Amino acid sequence: MKVAKFGGTSVADAGQILKIFDIVKADPGRRIIVVSAPGKRSKTDTKVTDLLIACAEAMLKHGQADIELAVIVERFACIQKELGAPESITREIESDLRQRLAGDRKHHGKFMDSLKAAGEDNCAKLVAAAFKQRGMDAHYVSPREAGLLLSAEFGNAQVLEKSYAALAALAQRPGVTIFPGFFGYTEAGEVATFPRGGSDITGAILAAAVQAEVYENFTDVDSVYACDPRIEPEAPAIALLTYREMRELAYAGFGVFHDEAIVPAVQANVPICIKNTNRPAAPGTKIVPQRTAAGGGVVGVASADGFSTIFVSKYLMNREVGFGRKLLQILEAEKISYEHAPTGIDNMSVILRSKELTPAKEAHVITRITEELNPDDVEIEHGLALIMIVGEGMRYAVGLASKATRALAEAGVNIEMLNQGASEISIMFGVKEADRKKAVRALYHAFFAPTHGAQESS
Ligand code: ASP
Repeated sequence: MKVAKFGGTSVADAGQILKIFDIVKADPGRRIIVVSAPGKRSKTDTKVTDLLIACAEAMLKHGQADIELAVIVERFACIQKELGAPESITREIESDLRQRLAGDRKHHGKFMDSLKAAGEDNCAKLVAAAFKQRGMDAHYVSPREAGLLLSAEFGNAQVLEKSYAALAALAQRPGVTIFPGFFGYTEAGEVATFPRGGSDITGAILAAAVQAEVYENFTDVDSVYACDPRIEPEAPAIALLTYREMRELAYAGFGVFHDEAIVPAVQANVPICIKNTNRPAAPGTKIVPQRTAAGGGVVGVASADGFSTIFVSKYLMNREVGFGRKLLQILEAEKISYEHAPTGIDNMSVILRSKELTPAKEAHVITRITEELNPDDVEIEHGLALIMIVGEGMRYAVGLASKATRALAEAGVNIEMLNQGASEISIMFGVKEADRKKAVRALYHAFFAPTHGAQESS
């Protein structure tokens, strides 16, 4: 049995949904289908999830959201009409949205999640109806009924372990299950969503629960590329990646697959295949536990903006027992999660996502560090980008770091931070956001398209 997930652009209009119909029909193994909310039909279009967020915000701010609601209903009505599905579906979607908008607004996060989940939920109902109308034995299944239980971290939920046993029963259902991505329910019965892009996580959880032979992740590109094709259009497709490589690349900005979706697949040993709804015959990228020829050095260069560094220095820090713990404990107490903490002899940096900080939180953290740790200096710097070069074979390659730093130096990029993970399958560089693209290009050319000699990757 296969689990197939279709992203936002794959359900953006009726034409795309009919491509899914053909893909599902072509393989009887595709028995569990996870769908996103309708995404962008063109570059200037807006995703339904973003429309829903705007709608919820209007309701929270002004106590009404008629204009925003009408736009969303129109979006679904358009798909319903093009599919030739019964008009009653649009009416049901409208009444579902009104019901959510009339819900309790005391807890903003819960209210927001209830609205955000409406995109996937109604899309799944519409897709199931359209497939049924065309003679497929397709059924919408609600995450509540199936037992997808999540932590009560609204907007950032995680699956609860006990969900897996309940979800395993999906394998026994007749016909094709159409399951909405992105959300589940807390133990108290409230809607909770995964982080943005979280339909990938739903698909991975279902694939793990039913022990699928493969988790197919359908999107709008043929494969994962060695580097963002918007930066380097010539970047080659990657045919095979390990879980660890994909996790590292996804973490640092490879948008095709959510980094948190790797974990359930890894735990259940389910291979993942990234495929294109618009070209289903293309082989795509396979993500597997191990690559036999794990050599070859660097497989990809990833990058992401939006990081900040807290830099703390204190003479003889290396002799002060518990310094690092105390620093991290201050962040923990302020509910700030951090990403990396490279250290020197007399200094320690903590790298975190800038969205973790507000100006007030930032000032408070600096005050606490100053008062409680008595450092010589503490500074926060914003506008940091992380660049990663990733590859299982990097462990065995000599001179790789020097090659990378040379390439960055020749491109005139100043390295603010350099970190090699303990796994040795990646090296991370911190550079100024303004230098990000230049840095990616330089690394790409160093490892994939050297100006002299044949292509080399180590
Ligand atoms: N619709 C959600 C989002 O836009 C989840 C997803 O598409 O995976 O983030």
